[in-house]
Amino acid sequence: MIGPMPAYPLAAPLRSGNRRALARAITLAESSRPEHLLEAQRLLAEVLPHTGRSVRVGLTGVPGVGKSSFIEALGLRLADAGHRVAVLAVDPSSQRTGGSILGDKTRMPKLAVHPGAFIRPSPSSGALGGVARRTREAALLCEAAGHDVILIETVGVGQSETQVAAMTDVFVLLTLPNAGDELQGIKRGIMELADLCVVNKADLDAAATRRAKSELAAALHLLTPRSASWQPRVLAASALTGAGLDEVWAVVQACVADGARVQARRQAQTGQWFEELLREAAWQALASRLDAAELGRVRAGVNAGELTPVQGVSALLEAVNPDRRRGGG
Ligand code: GDP
Repeated sequence: MIGPMPAYPLAAPLRSGNRRALARAITLAESSRPEHLLEAQRLLAEVLPHTGRSVRVGLTGVPGVGKSSFIEALGLRLADAGHRVAVLAVDPSSQRTGGSILGDKTRMPKLAVHPGAFIRPSPSSGALGGVARRTREAALLCEAAGHDVILIETVGVGQSETQVAAMTDVFVLLTLPNAGDELQGIKRGIMELADLCVVNKADLDAAATRRAKSELAAALHLLTPRSASWQPRVLAASALTGAGLDEVWAVVQACVADGARVQARRQAQTGQWFEELLREAAWQALASRLDAAELGRVRAGVNAGELTPVQGVSALLEAVNPDRRRGGG
């Protein structure tokens, strides 16, 4: 019998709610170095029994709709009410910039300094691994550290909605009072993910907000709901005045009140997480055996049109596993 693995040194301070330990744990999970991936997986395995007891909320909307204002206003309310709120983001564009363009912390200055809140800028995606996998793991680490509300925002435009919906219990679409024009621009697929649509900036124009609400309700009615047991709702709110935020939270709570639905979603999401992790591990296992120069040559050949992508991958697989050439698998 092998005894239990020693407690990973970060696990205890993380579990006690130490913010630096949480930040370090997330950095570990975000690292693209293979040895860090292993350490992060050990840490996650250790704290996993202490995760899952939070409400995971995804939020999306076009830039300028008020996502950061909304998250800050809602987050402050919840934190003031004694919740421990964590704010995370999925930003595929950070691949290019090496970090969130907007600097998430400065976007939510009041929430960032609230003792009950933890804000993490979006991970920049390195050469390996997915931004989504890292955010999913960051959320679990936040839960292990005692955060009971996880707000995950899409920062990129039109790329990360599915990913965020695939790691949350409730998905919220923020829209503007002039939704009529805006609806044209919202992809049907994103509307279909929404459990709740919120017309933000309701303080600007009451009549337009009412119109937007009924247009949204009509549009949602034509779509197939994501879960048969939940009809998506439409609300109005103002991140500026705080109006409607309590209703938004009440609907979020109503949406997660059905434990069976949340359980089913989370189960499916765990399967997706596994596939993502497997792809990443498989790539790392392969990368560790590939000769970098050979990889560079093959890549250049594919880019120059001398090899098809299929030929390129076959050549690399043969290089690490010569049996393949002889038909040995
Ligand atoms: P994001 O790009 O979606 O994160 O949007 P921001 O939170 O940065 O907000 C964009 C602009 O809209 C900012 O100038 C905010 O002050 C403003 N804003 C956000 N929410 C509201 C609101 O409820 N009412 C009004 N009047 N302005 C708002």
